[in-house]
Amino acid sequence: MKFNPERYRISDEKSVPFIDADEIWTYLNNASSTAEQVRAIIQRSLSKNRLSLEEVAVLVNTTDPLLIEEIKEGARELKRKVYGNRMVLFAPLYLGNLCQNNCLYCGFRSTNKDQHRVTLTKEQIIREVEALESVGQKRLVLSLGEHKNYDAAFIADCVRTVYSVKKGNGEIRRVNVNAAPMDHEGFETVRQAGIGTYQIFQETYHPETYAKYHKSGPKSDFNWRLTAFDRAQDVGLDDNGFGVLFGLYDWRYEVLALVRHTNHLEACYNVGPHTISFPRIKDASSMNVDDRYLVSDEDFVKLIAILRLAVPYTGLILTAREPSLVRKEALDFGVSQLDGGTKLEIGSYSETEHQQDLKREQFKINDDRSLAEVIDDLLDNKYIPSFCTACYRRGRTGEHFMEFSVPGFIKRFCTPNALLTLVEYIQDYASPSVAEKGWRLINETVEELEDDKFKIELIKRIEKIKQGERDLYF
Ligand code: SAM
Ligand code: SF4
Repeated sequence: MKFNPERYRISDEKSVPFIDADEIWTYLNNASSTAEQVRAIIQRSLSKNRLSLEEVAVLVNTTDPLLIEEIKEGARELKRKVYGNRMVLFAPLYLGNLCQNNCLYCGFRSTNKDQHRVTLTKEQIIREVEALESVGQKRLVLSLGEHKNYDAAFIADCVRTVYSVKKGNGEIRRVNVNAAPMDHEGFETVRQAGIGTYQIFQETYHPETYAKYHKSGPKSDFNWRLTAFDRAQDVGLDDNGFGVLFGLYDWRYEVLALVRHTNHLEACYNVGPHTISFPRIKDASSMNVDDRYLVSDEDFVKLIAILRLAVPYTGLILTAREPSLVRKEALDFGVSQLDGGTKLEIGSYSETEHQQDLKREQFKINDDRSLAEVIDDLLDNKYIPSFCTACYRRGRTGEHFMEFSVPGFIKRFCTPNALLTLVEYIQDYASPSVAEKGWRLINETVEELEDDKFKIELIKRIEKIKQGERDLYF
């Protein structure tokens, strides 16, 4: 369908920059943090309210170790009560590393002569997707540099190619995209290709710091990036993934700015972010980052817990940039999505030998376990690995919001769908020991379901999958 701007309500008003660094610093400088305040704020979040900027500033300014423990416990409780114990899994697929920008932290930046530049051909994409399907992946996020060759039509074509690949019982059921901001027409083009979430990380919401790290190329325009989700929303692309690259500027400021961005989207479009990502800077070939704002493990876990409480209806994504131990600890505080079996070297999923190589990737990852190992570990810790894509395919967009606000949503949809995808995984890909652990958790979870009629229906579907049917969901 051809893009017709008149079909959309496109208002200039929404494009007015809404991040004011002085305003954010005023909140931070004026917020004290007493035990009484912190406890009241945690309770407000547990009563299903998104927190205000003032409230988030109080949490961010909390330094008393006992109160920080209470914040973490609050996040843990919110996660347990609202989201249950499932963990959605995905893998990134890098399509190409040509880039016109010069982000000083990134191995793909245009001035990095050490980077081997590659763009996957259609045949190579098919091979990569087959390799990903062969280990059980069902959800991908496509990533790439910003380059004139990678326009919306190119990305939309890649998305269609990915969806078309079927290997054995494998298929990719949700393709998310992490790529440069587009204009309205571009967003409409990728929406029509059936993408799930469109992720764009602001990197830093501090304009001066942004200018320091993005000196040239289209990405040097702070406001164009900041208003990207307004354009996406205008054309009905309403699954938006926010993110900050932690380590460029003061993490406390960035957490408040993420909440400010959320307020903006809620006020203008009545919808908050679908997900928030919080990558920390990792080693990259030829990177040049000032270490003043690098975030310690302690602050990292604290900021995840604060984000969980601040935006309780939003999914939180923690990637393989982090070592498995940090990932393990952070899971409890509200992370809902993890990547597993990640390889960042372009074209490497289909290679038999694999070694990390900064000259072929954007940055170094620190959790290089296979998908099977990640699943094994999740099962050991009583998490249900989930490849669920039901809401997106049933048109239930804003699913995190529903999980959070619709009573019984998790029991009715998320847990059973997670179990059904786990049964598929066990049937098609699991080793005997993972299968055994998986069945134990499936049986325990089914046993706990209270609604007998529903339980019978779920058991029926599990049996059907055992008999060879696939892709059953509620
Ligand atoms: N080129 C697109 C853009 O800049 O919007 C896509 C982004 S890239 C595929 C995904 C993200 O990786 C970036 O937005 C950035 O936050 C993150 N990243 C870049 N360099 C990194 C590094 N050295 N360590 C950790 N994350 C990094
Ligand atoms: Fe290019 Fe994105 Fe890397 Fe910046 S972060 S150099 S835009 S790939």
